[in-house]
Amino acid sequence: MPDPKPQFNAHTPAGLTHREVEAARAKHGWNELPATKRIGPARVFFRQFKNFLVLILIVAGFIAFTLGEYTDTLAIALVIALNGILGFVQEWRAETALESLRNMLSPMARVIRGGCEQSIEARSLVPGDLIVLETGARIPADATLQQAAELRVDESALTGESAPVGKTVGTEASVVFAGTSVVLGRGLATVVAIGANTSFGEIASLTGSVGLKETNLQVQLGRLARQLGSATLAIAVAVLCLGLVMGRDTGEMVMTGLSLSVAMVPEGLPAVVTITLALGAAAMVRQNALARRLQAVETLGAASVICTDKTGTLTENKMTVTRVWTMDRTYQVTGYDPTGHIVHDGSVVRATQDAVLTQLLKTGLTCTHARLHREAEKWIMTGAPTEGALVTLAYKGWAEIPAPSPIVAEIPFSSERKRMSVLVRGDAEDVVYCKGAPEQVLTICTRVMTQDGLRDLGAEESQAITAAYEAMARDGLRVIALALKTTKDEELQEEEMTFLGLAGLIDPPRPEVKPAISAALRAGIRVIMITGDSPLTANAIASQLSLPAAKMVSGEELDLMEDGQLTRVLHDDVLFARTQPVHKMRIVSTLQAQHQIVAMTGDGVNDAPALKRADIGISMGIRGTDVAKGASDLVLLDDNFTTIVSAIGEGRRQFDNVRKFVHYLLSSNAGEVIALLINILIGGPLIFLATQILWMNLVTDGVTAVALGLEKSEPDQMAHPPRKKNAAILGIRGIITILAFGLYTGLASLWVFLHLLPVDEDLARTTAFTAMVLFEKASVFAFRSLHLPCWRIGIFSNPFLLIALVVTIAAQLAAVYWSPLQILLHTAPLHSAQWMLIGILVLPILLVPEALKTLRYVVGNRLKTNSSLLV
Ligand code: ATP
Repeated sequence: MPDPKPQFNAHTPAGLTHREVEAARAKHGWNELPATKRIGPARVFFRQFKNFLVLILIVAGFIAFTLGEYTDTLAIALVIALNGILGFVQEWRAETALESLRNMLSPMARVIRGGCEQSIEARSLVPGDLIVLETGARIPADATLQQAAELRVDESALTGESAPVGKTVGTEASVVFAGTSVVLGRGLATVVAIGANTSFGEIASLTGSVGLKETNLQVQLGRLARQLGSATLAIAVAVLCLGLVMGRDTGEMVMTGLSLSVAMVPEGLPAVVTITLALGAAAMVRQNALARRLQAVETLGAASVICTDKTGTLTENKMTVTRVWTMDRTYQVTGYDPTGHIVHDGSVVRATQDAVLTQLLKTGLTCTHARLHREAEKWIMTGAPTEGALVTLAYKGWAEIPAPSPIVAEIPFSSERKRMSVLVRGDAEDVVYCKGAPEQVLTICTRVMTQDGLRDLGAEESQAITAAYEAMARDGLRVIALALKTTKDEELQEEEMTFLGLAGLIDPPRPEVKPAISAALRAGIRVIMITGDSPLTANAIASQLSLPAAKMVSGEELDLMEDGQLTRVLHDDVLFARTQPVHKMRIVSTLQAQHQIVAMTGDGVNDAPALKRADIGISMGIRGTDVAKGASDLVLLDDNFTTIVSAIGEGRRQFDNVRKFVHYLLSSNAGEVIALLINILIGGPLIFLATQILWMNLVTDGVTAVALGLEKSEPDQMAHPPRKKNAAILGIRGIITILAFGLYTGLASLWVFLHLLPVDEDLARTTAFTAMVLFEKASVFAFRSLHLPCWRIGIFSNPFLLIALVVTIAAQLAAVYWSPLQILLHTAPLHSAQWMLIGILVLPILLVPEALKTLRYVVGNRLKTNSSLLV
């Protein structure tokens, strides 16, 4: 077994020691900008008073004051304050939830310290630190290059210039700047300036980007609120005029008009949506999905297609070489860590016993950025898992660790080229080592190495290689071909290479993904695999996961397809393999043209445009590059496909809950408006006083509506197809339901009022007022699900709602029996007869919707069973 601390990376400098870092930190501080302004609690509090509703209330309070109605003025002031406090508590919770999401996005940096490459928070970098620059990484500080391989940097954030800039060591272009990002290649650089001293202070751009852009729902609800607002104004003016014509007191009618406006304008809706979505985003993080934009939470619920990559998302990304093939031998490989063996014909083989194997293992060890070392009895691998597997393979074969010979040139791996080569300076001669996808390596090989020496790579050899490659791929293995050549060229030329053999890597599917795929399919969501791996490997993995893929389309075939053809292909179950990032863009656009809502995963820098284009761009928290994360709406903290499906479930829950409370709030408002209007038309004295309306809407309903936003997901939430993208929040059925509730509660409270009016006006009004409050509380059960009965979703499954109910009913009791509130709200104490009356009238609200929903549920289930029996 080779020395556990291999020396083959010794050409890489060791970086700062712990002590040097501490000293530099003491001198230069942290790599961060002076704190970006955080929204303070005072601002959130005052924001509560900056809306149209409060304006109406202030006007109402002012009018009450000028009319000498001081208790009303006080009541209105209290309602404004209480409403402000409730709004503040909710919004502050949402704000802190968003803040913690922002903190989770804090940028990371790869650094070499004490000889070890590691990932640290970018804020802890110090001048002198040695940072590793990889494709897709955001550069965390100003730095001078020490090494660079084909390094290209996007400096558009700094200069506005969109073309990437090439960077080379020892020239003018050897400085890289904080806030820019690597689009190609690799480099090693020494940090020269951090934090506010960098030429560009945009480190926080990733951090600060949990967007607060208005979501579709907010826009829709804002529009609804405005429409209702105008309708209200018209009705309020009509009521005012009507009252005046009928000879009512002017002050009383003005107050009624104003309170009617308050009763109808759902001003608070957009805010409640923001709160619900923000809390939803916080709930998603607990399931490892970090929403970068609130829009994502909402759109996720409508996702109809998930385009997913394979490696690491559907599979474990724990690569192990299990098979090696050379022209004249096949080897089996055992074990996961370097203690395993390479076996040929039943006996363990060492590199020294096999000339071809020696070269193959050496290529895997040299043409790599992966490192392997032992720490506390454990093997630690850094770098890409594919490369790590090849380094481990070399250890298993007891390969000689190459001397620390410097890599003088490199053509890095990219998803477009699908191969990587390095030029290494030797004592006698230079060597080019190459590894990559077999078809990409074969095209640059002219010879093949066998146990008997070199041979030309003719048609026969080519066929043998392809057959071996296909056999491995069919078994679901990821195949890497390895090649080398000695050279006298100064430059790295990928041509006339000698083919060495193939390594087959197993990357098992994640066990939890198969059930997640079937859950997605049951929920009417299509899953399309788009991978850079070979079609045969991709197909094997798809069938292991029961992912339907009747057709396989390769990147090359896709290039030859007309748009119409691609549209047809996308109607069926299809899988895309050997693709390049540009293909993702075309697939997203075509699916969108079919009105699909597309969730697309990506991790590389070139995936960014497709991620931006997709309705929900999803990047990988572990594997993903900073650029991909910056372009995405959702970051998967565990890179796992299953998380996408749970996030979609969460998105559906949020949307359902918003619909529930919109229906609920509007049905409550409708009842009040109907009672008020009919009462004015028949000429009765005011059924509800202005302060009572405010109490109902702002104090009791608001709390219940927010609790409704916290409903758990319904059991059949993932059993129906996704909603349409612009599905109205309020359909025709919704409007009918709202009117039905409104008519019943409005007419019932009016009846109570008229029935008791001859006894005593205050008693009649208090009973009608309390009846309305309790009707509204009872109707919330009907809106807990728009189609399932309560017993099906669990009567006690939303404890917040039960708490809200207890609190609001207690508040109503106080309103009726506690003298300060009695004075403010002009109420009279109720007796058992009135409570009985209210109780009887509440019953239909509890029972009828439940009975109807139960009937629908039972009949629906019967039909389903019958149709499945027929099938
Ligand atoms: P997915 O898109 O599902 O993540 P992928 O990771 O297999 O798939 P790519 O990273 O584009 O997609 O890899 C494509 C092919 O390139 C692989 O099948 C493999 O043959 C080859 N390959 C992958 N990584 C390397 C590497 N580090 N060096 C050389 N070749 C590689």
